[in-house]
Amino acid sequence: MANRKATRLEPGDTIGVLGSGQLGRMLAMAAARLGLKTHIYCPESGPAFDVAAARTIAAYDDDAALSAFAAKVKVVTYEFENVPSHTAEFLAARLPVHPNAFALATAQDRFAEKTFINGLGIATAPFAAVDTVGDLRAALAALGHPAILKTRRMGYDGKGQIMIRDGDDPAAAFATIGEQPAILEGLVPFVSEVSVVAARSVDGAFAAFDLNQNEHADHILSVTFAPASVAPATATRAFEIARAIADALDYVGVIAVELFVVIDHGVERLIVNEIAPRVHNSGHWTIDGAECSQFEQHVRAVSGWPLGSPRIRGRIEMRNLIGDEALDWPAILAEPGAYLHLYGKHEARAGRKMGHVTRVFKTITRD
Ligand code: AMP
Repeated sequence: MANRKATRLEPGDTIGVLGSGQLGRMLAMAAARLGLKTHIYCPESGPAFDVAAARTIAAYDDDAALSAFAAKVKVVTYEFENVPSHTAEFLAARLPVHPNAFALATAQDRFAEKTFINGLGIATAPFAAVDTVGDLRAALAALGHPAILKTRRMGYDGKGQIMIRDGDDPAAAFATIGEQPAILEGLVPFVSEVSVVAARSVDGAFAAFDLNQNEHADHILSVTFAPASVAPATATRAFEIARAIADALDYVGVIAVELFVVIDHGVERLIVNEIAPRVHNSGHWTIDGAECSQFEQHVRAVSGWPLGSPRIRGRIEMRNLIGDEALDWPAILAEPGAYLHLYGKHEARAGRKMGHVTRVFKTITRD
């Protein structure tokens, strides 16, 4: 299950990255700064290809291409959680894969993920497995309305999910998500959404960035504030939850844990929504706003290097530039203290993450 082969890379070595999106791009840039190379493997070209030392365009089930890739890199990581399990297992038989195949499999399946988290004594939304319309009717009777039906696998940014309200037809809802294996979740009456982005090293050291507070628009992350506006005890608990999950997965690399904050008898309580076995959009501010970014932290962890300092440099606001919002780049460039990141995507389709801007507000105290 866990990958215990501890390899320590040397400057000049190559990290293999599955996936060619903006997360891979920012990983490759962080690796390059530390004198490490990246080799991107993906079925299609993407933003990471522009900044990597080597690239392979091949299918995730192309064993010959995977073998050739494995021979050229020292360690493999990935920038998205839908890496097929065959790919992860094929590579893990040849060289270290971080995070390990068990962490990947757990995070890929909402049912396995919530069962695993509950098994650690950590709260999630109430949930039930749904494989048929009959299961869905039984789950609705148990969990009540409204509830959210989500595909077990391949969901992201609100895709593959539908809210079911009282009076809605369960069969129609199940048809909307393609009658795939799913889970039904009770609706959590959250007051805010937060996330922990943290790293765990090969030797079990753990370093969390300040807690993120996240706002979504149309199911896509719109803005992250850090540190989150929660009680200090809530932030401490969030870090404990993330560490317990990372330890239990024998995790190596950056992990994100998304949580709901609910108010229970006047006290903040945390409920885990989901985990992401990778660097995370809510951690993008760390490039400009922390002493060591999430991307460098991930590179350090998978390289068997010590973790860096996650210390925050000020109060942070990170806004995603979605679709046409990226057209504002000249105005952002002109703004002192605004750090612009564009991913080099050619076409600004609606809902597409084109870049982000981080603002770091320094609190200056004078005596
Ligand atoms: P997910 O794809 O599971 O991260 O869900 C996307 C967004 O839908 C979350 O960030 C929440 O805003 C909302 N959401 C998901 N699940 C629940 C739930 N059980 N209760 C309330 N809101 C939810």
